[in-house]
Amino acid sequence: MENILTVDNLHVTFKTYGGTVQAVRGVSFTLHKGETLAIVGESGCGKSVTSNAIMRLIPDPPGKITAGRIVFKQQDLTRLSEKSMRKIRGVDISMIFQDPMTALNPTLTIETQLVEGLKQHQKDISSKEAKQKAIEIMTLVGIPNPRERMKQYPHQFSGGMRQRIVIAIALICEPDLLIADEPTTALDVTIQAQILELFEKIQNVTGVSIILITHDLGVVAKIADRIAVMYAGKIIEVGTKREIFYESEHPYTKGLLKSVPRLDLKGESLKPIDGTPPDLFSPPAGCPFTARCPFAMEVCDKAYPAQTTLTDTHRVDCWLQDERAKKLLAQAATT
Ligand code: SF4
Repeated sequence: MENILTVDNLHVTFKTYGGTVQAVRGVSFTLHKGETLAIVGESGCGKSVTSNAIMRLIPDPPGKITAGRIVFKQQDLTRLSEKSMRKIRGVDISMIFQDPMTALNPTLTIETQLVEGLKQHQKDISSKEAKQKAIEIMTLVGIPNPRERMKQYPHQFSGGMRQRIVIAIALICEPDLLIADEPTTALDVTIQAQILELFEKIQNVTGVSIILITHDLGVVAKIADRIAVMYAGKIIEVGTKREIFYESEHPYTKGLLKSVPRLDLKGESLKPIDGTPPDLFSPPAGCPFTARCPFAMEVCDKAYPAQTTLTDTHRVDCWLQDERAKKLLAQAATT
C-alpha cells in the first residue's frame, strides 16, 4: 500500500521556567493512502503535539522539533520554510480541532469562512465557482438547505452542525490528509456517532487519509483501520484495530482496554490503571510504564525495551516479549 506520510524518530520539546519538557520522544509511524490511523493515549502522552508537529504548528519558542523527519508526499516537512508550509496547510493537509465553536469565527458568515480558504489557495477561482463548491461541500457533510444556511453565522447552528461546518472547511480544498484532534469530545454521544459516520462517508467519497487523535477507544473502534497507542511521548504499541482490541501485548494497552465500559461484560467493574504517567521533564531511561506496570521486572526501569515485531502490522515495546523474559515466566509457571 502506498505511504502518504512517514514520521521517523520525531522528537519535540518545550522549554519552560521549570525545565525542558520532552513531550514527544522518538515517535515513528507511517500512514497509508486512504487509511485511518488512530493515535490514542491519555492526556499529556504527546498525541496532540505529534499532530501539531505534522502541521508544523509547534510554537517556536517555547516548542521545538529537535529531531526526526516528517515525510509527506516525498518532502520532509521539518525542513520547509513557513512560506512553503502555508501552501500545504489547508490544501494538502487539513486539521479539525476539538471545539467547533472556537474553531469558527463568530463574526463571519459560514459562506465567508468556507470560501476564504478556497480563494486563498486557488487564486483563479471565480466567486460563483467558489460558492458552488461551498454548497457541494456543505451537502457532502450533511447540512440541509446549504444555499440558505451558508448565509448564517456559527451561533445559529447546533454543536453537531458546527462540527460539520468545521469538517467542510477542512475538506473544501480536497486535502490528501485530514488530521482530526479529538473531533467528537465536545459533542454529546448521539451527535458523536453521526460525526463518526460522516468521517467514514467522507473517506469513501474522497479517499482522504485520516489521522484521528483521541483518548476514547470507543471512537477508535468505530472508524480506525490501525491504532497507535502512545504513552509518555512514545508509541508503545501499534497494530490493526483487531490486533489492538483482541491481541494486544503491552500491559498499558491491556489496561486501557480494561478501563473502557463494555456492554457485553455485565456485572464486571471497570479497572482503572493505578498511578500517573512519569514526569517528562526528566523521563526515565527505561520503560516509562514501569511504576504502574503489574509485570515490571528489574530490567524495565534500567533500559528501554527494544521493539518486537509480532506481525507485519503489529509491533510492541515491552521487555515481556524478550525471549529471556518469556523463558523466566515459563519457568516460574512450572514451579
Ligand atoms: Fe511492564 Fe516492563 Fe513491559 Fe514496561 S517493559 S510494560 S514495565 S513489563
